[in-house]
Amino acid sequence: MKFKVPRGTQDLLPTETWKWQRVEAITREVCEMYRYQEIRTPIFEQTDLFQRAVGDTTDIVQKEMYTFKDKGDRSLTLRPEGTASVVRSFVENKMFGYADQPVKLYYSGPMFRYERQQAGRYRQFVQFGVEAIGSNDPAIDAEVIGLAMDVYKRAGLKKLKLVINSLGDADCRASHKAALIEHFEPSIDEFCSDCKTRLEKNPLRILDCKVDSENPLIESAPSLANYLNEESTAYFEAVKTYLTDANIDFVVDHNLVRGLDYYNHTAFEIMSDSEGFGAITTLCGGGRYNGLTEEIGGPAAPGIGFAMSIERLLLAMEAEGVTFDAEPTLDAYVVTLGDAAKRVGAKLLTDLRANGLRSDMDYTDRKMKAQMKSADRLEAKYVIVIGDEEVEEDVVMLRNMSDRAQDKISTADVVQKLLQDIKEG
Ligand code: ATP
Ligand code: MG
Repeated sequence: MKFKVPRGTQDLLPTETWKWQRVEAITREVCEMYRYQEIRTPIFEQTDLFQRAVGDTTDIVQKEMYTFKDKGDRSLTLRPEGTASVVRSFVENKMFGYADQPVKLYYSGPMFRYERQQAGRYRQFVQFGVEAIGSNDPAIDAEVIGLAMDVYKRAGLKKLKLVINSLGDADCRASHKAALIEHFEPSIDEFCSDCKTRLEKNPLRILDCKVDSENPLIESAPSLANYLNEESTAYFEAVKTYLTDANIDFVVDHNLVRGLDYYNHTAFEIMSDSEGFGAITTLCGGGRYNGLTEEIGGPAAPGIGFAMSIERLLLAMEAEGVTFDAEPTLDAYVVTLGDAAKRVGAKLLTDLRANGLRSDMDYTDRKMKAQMKSADRLEAKYVIVIGDEEVEEDVVMLRNMSDRAQDKISTADVVQKLLQDIKEG
């Protein structure tokens, strides 16, 4: 074969897509319950947007973006995540002026990151995420976290672990940053070249470095927890209270630093605790991003959101051994023998479908037995057999596949009979 899917991407075949549709339906149902509405933004944006919003010192911006010039010499980037685009749209469409704040939005679609491919890590993957923009109430933080947990629970996952942390506000971050620089600077030569750049710009990111994670200086680094001011501590306490009231279990991990620069206050991850899940256990990540709207040129509007990939959700389901019920089956399969019968069958098929009955027929002139086998494989509820004799008499042979009982009935009555049986049945 000459052509293959590009590295890090995959074809989703019908044996998989039905599961995706189920999961996507769950995400929509949960969003409806919480009154989050869908937003669809372009697949590519100006490169500057991600540099600004996601942050220059992040892995995403430094290594993972698919950036290209269009014919007008503009630098564009395939979106690596959803928040930047949603916040851009919030500002551009003046959603801060909407009567109902916060504005509660969700999105679902492909994201692109140039990453090393492994299980649960792709170059094109689908993220579902929500953003609540325009409120700085700890109750909405708990709502957003609860929504993410509900999606996983509805998908049947049980082995979930919610980890939360507070990254504090700008003041806490500044004094913590100074302490981190003091801590790492004398030994920064031991660290990778990325961390050297991070030291001045954003030393917090050193704590999240995948290369230097074993360096003991990471473990002994000053904890953000000791730099939280009174306001940030109170905010974090309130989030925890709301989570507890909603019966959502969590653990606090002061080393949880999310991979994007824009987070402050609440940061969280949902992990799979399932043994079969392999190296990658994070299913979902999110947090608060007060200040992001201003960063991209809009008025102040504090926000919080999360993103999860559908790929990892499905992997977690597999690891826990949860499955959905089988695919929906076919209502009727039309078996025809000979040209005259095929014409009658094709017409009947039109009527069946017009009446909402899921139906199909053979298009390869196979023998009766082969057609019957197809009907079995496709789990058709009814088989409608038409041969020359039936055409002559204007009838069909209708077989109920659950008890194999068959009946000769008038062609004109087939649709009504099936509609009635299936409704009753
Ligand atoms: P990681 O540390 O695994 O690289 P991240 O911090 O880059 O994650 P986020 O940007 O927060 O991840 O994305 C949120 C969620 O999107 C992740 O928890 C994961 O479910 C999913 N995700 C991120 N990158 C990928 C990928 N390359 N392939 C599949 N899913 C991904
Ligand atoms: Mg990543």
